[in-house]
Formats: sequence, C-alpha cells, structure tokens
Amino acid sequence: MTTGTAPSHTPMDALLSTVKDVYLNTPALIDFAPWPARLENSGLGHRRMPAEPLITGFAETGTPETDAIVNAIKVASSDAYWTQTYTVEEVGQDFLNRYGYFELLGPTGHFYNDELRGYVGYWGEGLDYGWHNHEAEELYYCLAGEGLFKAEGEADHSLTASQTKYHSSFQKHAMSTSDKPFLCLAFWRGKGMRELPRMAS
Ligand code: ZN
Repeated sequence: MTTGTAPSHTPMDALLSTVKDVYLNTPALIDFAPWPARLENSGLGHRRMPAEPLITGFAETGTPETDAIVNAIKVASSDAYWTQTYTVEEVGQDFLNRYGYFELLGPTGHFYNDELRGYVGYWGEGLDYGWHNHEAEELYYCLAGEGLFKAEGEADHSLTASQTKYHSSFQKHAMSTSDKPFLCLAFWRGKGMRELPRMAS
C-alpha cells in the first residue's frame, strides 16, 4: 500500500502530453529536433493577456491531431504565462489586444529544458506581424486557422492545420492573417534559443 498524494495532473501537464504525442507522430517535427529527454516543471504561474477570451472562444477547426492540441490549449490558457514581446510603438494597441504567446517548453518555459523551445502562439484575424528575425532556427506548426507567411528568398506561403514552415538562422520573415485567426506551435533549436525575435529595422 502506498501513502501520500499522487502527483497532480494539471491542464498544462495535459497540454504538454498532447503536444508530445503529436510531435512524436509527426515526421516534420521529429526531424526538426528530438523531443527533450528531460522536462522539468518550472512552476510558472498564470500571466494574463488581453486576448485570453479569444483563445477560450477559438472556433476554427483543424485536423484530428491539431484539434486535440487546440482543446488542451483552451483549458490550459487560464494557467499560461502569456507573453508579448513587442511594444505599442512597434505593433500598435489592436495587435497587442489580439496576439499573445507562451513558452510551453524551453529555457524560460513552463517545462524547462535547453535543447528545444516550443511556443504556443495566437494572432487574431486581420493582423500584420512585420518582418523580424532571430538566430535560432524555427519550425512553425499550424494548429488551426491560417497564417500567410513571407520569408526572405522564398515565395509567399499559406499555412493551415498540420502544415509546417521552416526558417533558417536570421532568415527574415513576416506573417499576416486574413479573415481567420492563426493558432500555432513554433519550435526553436540551435544557437540563440534563449533570445527573443526582433523586428527587422
Ligand atoms: Zn520566427
């Protein structure tokens, strides 16, 4: 007979486990980087952001794999350490009201490791996320909705559920949404993983 309490299974644990299941079964993701062998709960609390009701009310449908993640995000949203990298001067108030992300796993994420960073990102419809770049290599994975990507040296590219988009180190890229919001995972690997994206000057 055992005593004591079982480890609690939080909505954030459930989200991590759902993301891991999809990651391990998606060649484009597992080819980008191995799933980290160790992930330590860093005890991050909730940080509010204006777009939270847009997450919980998110109505776009993805694929069966991505819908499982979308549903887990809706539940975990009220525990997430939501973050906004940009200022009103850079992107405007409407953008800040309808965008946000949190780091699920990574150096400063809910689950610590220093090999793979995984963000949950949301942009409302009709937003322009201008040209920016960062040292880390990046792979976007669309969960639902649609993002229209521009990347230096490439043709424009629309991303819908279960599709991925890769950016090399310091490759400039931009993203906009049309009449649909965009909910995604973004993974970072390699040098510069602790940095933040910067708007291109
Ligand atoms: Zn990027």
